[in-house]
Amino acid sequence: MGEAAVIALLSGGVGGSRFAAGLYDLVGQELTVIVNTADDEVIYGLHISPDVDTVLYTLSGIGDWERGWGVAGDTFRCNEALGRLGRDNWFRIGDADLATNLLRTELLNSGWRLSEVTELLARRLGIRCRVIPMTDSRVRTTVVTSHGPMTFQEYFVKHRAEPEVLRIVVERSQDERPAPGVVEAIEGSGFLFVAPSNPILSIRPILETRGVLDAVRSSGAVKVAVSPIVGGRALRGPADRLMRAFGMEPSAYGVARYYAELFGLDGFVVDRADASLSSRIESELGVRVYVTDTIMADRSEARRLAEEVLRFAGTLR
Ligand code: GDP
Ligand code: CA
Repeated sequence: MGEAAVIALLSGGVGGSRFAAGLYDLVGQELTVIVNTADDEVIYGLHISPDVDTVLYTLSGIGDWERGWGVAGDTFRCNEALGRLGRDNWFRIGDADLATNLLRTELLNSGWRLSEVTELLARRLGIRCRVIPMTDSRVRTTVVTSHGPMTFQEYFVKHRAEPEVLRIVVERSQDERPAPGVVEAIEGSGFLFVAPSNPILSIRPILETRGVLDAVRSSGAVKVAVSPIVGGRALRGPADRLMRAFGMEPSAYGVARYYAELFGLDGFVVDRADASLSSRIESELGVRVYVTDTIMADRSEARRLAEEVLRFAGTLR
């Protein structure tokens, strides 16, 4: 890579972390990953931050790539013991993963901010780029479903994102601000990438953090998103169903349109399976399209995709 590419990436969990790992392998500390925290909850008395941890584990290489959460090879002895004690244990936290959550909770309880804890965890895991939660304030997501209202993790994990979603209520504090470094990373980057993450559950909460959408709109960065929808479907999770429920076309076109209308996209990356949507995206939305294989089955695939996206983005400068 010739000229240093300063990159800000907006990311959720599994799709986001995979793409983040690919970029990280190419540009190292020139990358800043801004991570969704709307999935954060207190469970078993611990502050869990699933998307942040997935990014940390994936970047550091200790994550379970295929599963998309937790530490590879982890055991679940604590979780099983909780079950034997009669505690509902549908939210699975592995034993090594538990250490992360214990330390995070301890530090938060002694007055640290989430971004400071995240920075410490990243450093201890040997990660050289910045990983920043979108905000240090608590964000609470309630999913109102056909089975009634439930917390985000009840919807996503306990009910496997199966109930029909009627509404999503994201409660945010009045004095919320982006975590330190978020706006600076967006404004100071040459490339602003949106990972192939769930647009509604992962990316929208980042953009709705006060000040972030304005920063994205006014940033002079080349803005490129990668589609999380492949062949008209989410590879996993409810992105396609949620898009339909919220009146969006559940396709790569629908994702491109959402970002194009929200903040203006320069480029959009679609899978070969959706190549036929390219001309519509280009002509109707005025967004340049790059077609390639976007399924990141392993880290080398992620690196290859990141390299292609970076090269494509470079042509849009
Ligand atoms: P979550 O927070 O764990 O739900 O993860 P994200 O929001 O980051 O990503 C969820 C989305 O990532 C889903 O819509 C998937 O279709 C998409 N996704 C996961 N892996 C890949 C991949 O390898 N390639 C692409 N293009 N999308 C992916
Ligand atoms: Ca998530």
